[in-house]
Amino acid sequence: MPTLAIVGRPNVGKSTLVNRIIGRREAVVEDVPGVTRDRVSYEANWSGRSFMVQDTGGWEPDAKGLQQSVARQAALAMESADAIVVVVDAVVGATATDEAVAKILRRSKTPVVLVANKVDDQRMEAEAASLWNLGLGEPYPVSAIHGRGTGDLLDKILEVLPETPRERLGSVGGPRRVALVGKPNVGKSSLLNKLSGDERSVVHNVAGTTVDPVDTVVDLGGRPWRFVDTAGLRRKVAHASGAEFYASLRTKSAIEAAEVAILLIDASQPISEQDLRVLSMVADAGRALVIAFNKWDLVDEDRRHQLEREIDRDLQRVPWAQRVNISAQTGRAVQRLVPAMDTALESWDKRISTGRLNNWLKEVVAATPPPMRGGRLPRILFATQAGTRPPTFVLFTTGFLEAGYRRFLERRLREEFNFDGSPVRISVRVRE
Ligand code: GDP
Repeated sequence: MPTLAIVGRPNVGKSTLVNRIIGRREAVVEDVPGVTRDRVSYEANWSGRSFMVQDTGGWEPDAKGLQQSVARQAALAMESADAIVVVVDAVVGATATDEAVAKILRRSKTPVVLVANKVDDQRMEAEAASLWNLGLGEPYPVSAIHGRGTGDLLDKILEVLPETPRERLGSVGGPRRVALVGKPNVGKSSLLNKLSGDERSVVHNVAGTTVDPVDTVVDLGGRPWRFVDTAGLRRKVAHASGAEFYASLRTKSAIEAAEVAILLIDASQPISEQDLRVLSMVADAGRALVIAFNKWDLVDEDRRHQLEREIDRDLQRVPWAQRVNISAQTGRAVQRLVPAMDTALESWDKRISTGRLNNWLKEVVAATPPPMRGGRLPRILFATQAGTRPPTFVLFTTGFLEAGYRRFLERRLREEFNFDGSPVRISVRVRE
């Protein structure tokens, strides 16, 4: 299903417009735990076509970082959506932030529709016309609150929205995209420097096509890998204020742009909340994952035992993650990151045929049927792999499946087909 992203400054009426487009606040489509709060997608239907609407409403920082945050939002939408609606408040007119966003979106290959919101009556339409100046084509005057003009807007959206979602993550055969993530001082810059070694092995710096993320392409194991959004790592830019906010935004956007994430954890220190937060971002985004325990040169026997206990306690959520113990400083085992990423990406891309999947499912369910619910035994009718990157499965059932049983199915699925290094999503559709 194609995706429509809604971007714009806070308070221009994005959420109201989203509600208007989806008709009402529907449940989140993916019934996966931890669907990120800040990029929720809803299914919408208009004129017999279905599409996803991505609500970026949660991306609203304090006033200081506003312009950059909205710019980021627009840049992300350009990468991840099939069409973009940019919302401007017609009562206020175009602000500096709107202009900055328009500047980015004017270069967008993704179609953009400009919406002049809060046009509650005829009189306001003249104001809306002044938004032609943004250089994004015809402004569509609407009142998201009252519904005025939204029918025409939806017709326009369907006109520019492609029928099928485009290939998101670059063409097959290009360098695979890696996000290097982890809390400050864990050794990200050191690792990037170690991997790129002398300048000759850095193939080239790729100037970003969007805001200004700069990627670094590095030759590893005889192949190029694209480390996304590494400008800050190479230059170590520090933000005087809101550093944490920017760090988290950068991490998010790097993860979004990547296929596989290398999560660095400082092995010499206890696993922290911050480590787990970044871990959740990767898992929620559905990216392939390699956990690199860095600073292994500082780890002694005692610490190693302690770390094993911490892993048991804190990383149960991702028993499938690839793990490598490295030292970015000495270079210990950094080359082992390559086979770990290969394994993870192979799983991430894997497709299981419907025949094999259902043969397996029949056996598993016959041996261990799902528990009764409400005095009835839910039957599992059929399964299909709805997508890859990450592998996503849909089970059609006659009743709700308990979380415990779903986890059991995921474990068995992994044992049978091997998805090491990749998250797997299983959703259940109940048929009455
Ligand atoms: P970043 O903030 O994640 O980019 O972290 P840096 O790469 O700047 O590293 C932070 C500090 O940790 C620096 O003083 C590095 O020299 C040190 N460091 C990085 N990797 C290692 C390692 O493998 N072993 C040791 N002992 N120190 C390391």
